[in-house]
Amino acid sequence: MISLEDAQARINADIGLLPVVTVPLAESLGLVLQQEVVANEPIPPFDNTAMDGFAIQAADSAEASETTPVTLPVVATVAAGFVAPRPLESGEAMRIMTGAPIPEGADAVIMVELTRPVAGQESVQLLATVPVGNHIRPTGDDLPAGTVVFGSGTVITPGHIGVMASVGVSEVSVLRRARVGVFSTGDELVDAGVPLAPGQIRDSNRPTLLALLREAGVEPVDLGRLPDDEAAIDRALRAAVDPDAAAPVDALLTSGGVSMGDFDFVKKVLSELGELNWMQVAIKPAKPLAFGMLFGIPVFGLPGNPVSSVVSFELFARPAIRSMMGMPDPERRSIWAIADEPLLRSIDGKVHFQRVVVAPEPDGSWRAHSAGGQGSHQLSALATANGLAVLPDGDGVGSGQRVRVLQLDR
Ligand code: AMP
Ligand code: MG
Repeated sequence: MISLEDAQARINADIGLLPVVTVPLAESLGLVLQQEVVANEPIPPFDNTAMDGFAIQAADSAEASETTPVTLPVVATVAAGFVAPRPLESGEAMRIMTGAPIPEGADAVIMVELTRPVAGQESVQLLATVPVGNHIRPTGDDLPAGTVVFGSGTVITPGHIGVMASVGVSEVSVLRRARVGVFSTGDELVDAGVPLAPGQIRDSNRPTLLALLREAGVEPVDLGRLPDDEAAIDRALRAAVDPDAAAPVDALLTSGGVSMGDFDFVKKVLSELGELNWMQVAIKPAKPLAFGMLFGIPVFGLPGNPVSSVVSFELFARPAIRSMMGMPDPERRSIWAIADEPLLRSIDGKVHFQRVVVAPEPDGSWRAHSAGGQGSHQLSALATANGLAVLPDGDGVGSGQRVRVLQLDR
C-alpha cells in the first residue's frame, strides 16, 4: 500500500494545463481567465439619474418646501435610452426616468415623491430643497475608463461575467473547460427502465460521476457501459482517447474492474495500453486505483463500489481535473469540526473517510455527525452527507473531539 499523499503526487506529476482558448463570455462561467480585462468604456458611460423624478437646477429648489412649493414648467420628458431635446434653462424642469442621461444645464434630480403635479402635468411643484448632484450617478462612478478590472488567473463567477458584459467584453481568453468521459464497467449493470434479472443491479456510478463532473465545472461526456470483456474494454478505451476522435476527451474516468477479481479487466487493459500506476492506496473506502496516461490523456480507473468511486473521484480525479483547468484551489476546502457523537473506526494502517453532516454554530465553529451507514456499498448516506470526515489510523474520534472534514459542498 502507498500513502494517499504519494498516490496524489504520482498523479499530479503527470497532470498539465489544458490549452488556452477564446470563448464567448456566456460560456466562461467557472473557467480561469488568461488575460487582463480592461474597462475600455467608463461605467456608467454618462451622467444619469438614479431616480424617477425631475431634472432641475438645484438653486431653483432653494426655497421649496411642503408648505411653500416652487412651481416650474415641465419642458420635456427624458426616458432611459434617449437624450433631452435641448439644454435645460434655469427655472425649468424636465421629467426624467431612472437611467436616462442628465440633460445639459441640469445639476440635480428631485425624486417624483417630493413633487406634486399641477395643471395637467405641464408644470410641477417642488416640495423640498435638493443639493447639487442629487441622485446623479456620474460617468465612471463604478469603473473609470482604463481600469484593469480583472487579472489573469481569475476564476470567472457570475459577478465577473456581469462586469465584463457591462464594459462591452463579448469573449475572453481562458484555459479550456475539461471534457471528461465516463464509462462504467460490469456485466451486472443495467440502466433504469428494464426489470432487474437475477444478479443484476442498477448502474449508479455513471450518473453520479457525470453529476460530480458537472458540479466541478467540467463538461461531462457519457460514454456508456462496458461489459467485463477484455477486448471490448480495450476497444472502447482506445476509441475514447483517440486524438483523431471527433470530440476528443481531456481525461477519462472508468468505474469498476480495478480490484483483484477474475473479471477486473480495466487495470489489465490500461497496463497494456500505456503507462499504468496500479495503486493500493492506504485509504478506506477506495483502496484500489488504476491511473495511467493513455496517449497523453489521464485515465482514472476508479473502484466499482458506489461510495468508493465517489471518494476516489474526490481525492484523485477531481483535484487533478480542476488543476488541468488552472483552478487555484483544485481541492475541496476542509474545516475542523467537533464530533457530536463518536466517529469510530478500527486500526488497519489506512486513513478512513466517513460520510458526515457538518453544520455551523453561531460562534463560527462546526459540529459533525455521521450521515448514516458507512459501508462502501451504502450510497444512501452520501445523499445526506455534506462532508467527508478524515480519520487517521487509530480508533477514531470521541464525542466532543476535533475532526478534520472535507466539505463536499464547497
Ligand atoms: P468491481 O470493482 O467491478 O469489482 O465492483 C465492486 C462492486 O461495485 C460490485 O458490487 C459491483 O457490482 C459494484 N459496482 C460496480 N460498478 C457499479 C456501478 N456502475 N454502479 C453501481 N454499482 C457498481
Ligand atoms: Mg466489476
